[in-house]
Amino acid sequence: MKVDIAVIGAGTAGASAASFLAPHVSVALIDRADVPVWRIGETLPGAAHRVLMAIGAWQSFATAGHGAAPLKVSRWGSDEVVELDSFRDPDGAGWRLDRARFEADLRADAVARGARLVVPTTVLGLKRLADRWEIALDTGKTVSARQVVDASGRQSRLVRPFGQRRIVMDRLACVYQRVRQRGAADPSTYTQSTPEGWWYTAMLPDGYRIVAFHGDSDQPSIRTLMREGPLAVGVQTDGLADEIGSFEPASISSPQVCAANSAAGSSAGEGWFAAGDSAIALDPLSSQGLFNALVTGLEAGEAALAVLGGDMDATQAHAARTGRIWQAYAAHHATYYGMERRWPTAPFWRRRLGGHSAAHASSR
Ligand SMILES: Cc1cc2nc3c(=O)[nH]c(=O)nc-3n(C[C@H](O)[C@H](O)[C@H](O)COP(=O)(O)OP(=O)(O)OC[C@H]3O[C@@H](n4cnc5c(N)ncnc54)[C@H](O)[C@@H]3O)c2cc1C
Repeated sequence: MKVDIAVIGAGTAGASAASFLAPHVSVALIDRADVPVWRIGETLPGAAHRVLMAIGAWQSFATAGHGAAPLKVSRWGSDEVVELDSFRDPDGAGWRLDRARFEADLRADAVARGARLVVPTTVLGLKRLADRWEIALDTGKTVSARQVVDASGRQSRLVRPFGQRRIVMDRLACVYQRVRQRGAADPSTYTQSTPEGWWYTAMLPDGYRIVAFHGDSDQPSIRTLMREGPLAVGVQTDGLADEIGSFEPASISSPQVCAANSAAGSSAGEGWFAAGDSAIALDPLSSQGLFNALVTGLEAGEAALAVLGGDMDATQAHAARTGRIWQAYAAHHATYYGMERRWPTAPFWRRRLGGHSAAHASSR
């Protein structure tokens, strides 16, 4: 297959890039997953409305039945409950997504606008030729493209051989379980800090509740939570237990763990762009990962199109824009973690109280 632009990864960032590009140039949107399945990460801020409009995805989003997220409740910095309602947000209430549906709709929108979906196919590697990329697929076939957008997520390594630098800022990991809730659906999201990290719980639109603990992967808390399960520990945690409420024990899923660390990467080089988590991966505390994926996907698409049109400065401009997003995020991250001062000697908080500079930093 020969196209102008290959987008690797049909998650939020890749679908956003492909949706923008498809009306203008030929686009292959490649993903190893045949259809999107449920994944953790469901809150989307109200500001996403503008980006969904810009990529032609608002119509399907608005009719998909995602839940509203009108209220954020937290115990952070003290035991006092703080409520933040969407009246203070100029963009209005955000959403609690049906994540699989969200990604499936984004893919379908990209295809409706002209992208060629290539699934289920894993990209094995890239080869740079004089003026094109040769993209090796696990089917033995190749895709030939003039530009590549790497949107293959947090673990991506595809553009490292072509100059992408990436720094991992901390060791944050998440252990989570899902359970079917009994009683009325509560649309609020809830966050609570503890000496070892922080909890998050929210109702998903399908009637299940997610209960998640975030801590450092080298600390005993993550292993304990994997052994005992976040729900069993959560219902014994003051404050959180009330938020979790009543549930159907037979519906509890087994504990899962995943990386949730912050990572800053370079987002553009000769012939390639990175978008979403492949460029910058954000702490789930920010609830900005999906929004960032939509925005940087759109911007990577705009930059790739500009380069095809002869604007060679677009590469550097994309890298600079992503760098500014990272700077704003890092400042916000330091401020928010800095609001919790109760356990300054606990390893989790000691590592974060100095902001990112005090956090574990390593290249990988
Ligand atoms: C615990 C946790 C909670 C989170 N909660 C939230 C939240 O509430 N709100 C929020 O906004 N964000 C949240 N996030 C972050 C959010 O999930 C990510 O920022 C978002 O998924 C990034 O989208 P992406 O498209 O860049 O990458 P991904 O969603 O990871 O998509 C990458 C795609 O690339 C495909 N792929 C990967 N490698 C290959 C390959 N070699 N070949 C072919 N295909 C490939 C994958 O199949 C996948 O479809 C959370 C993250 C974590 C870890």
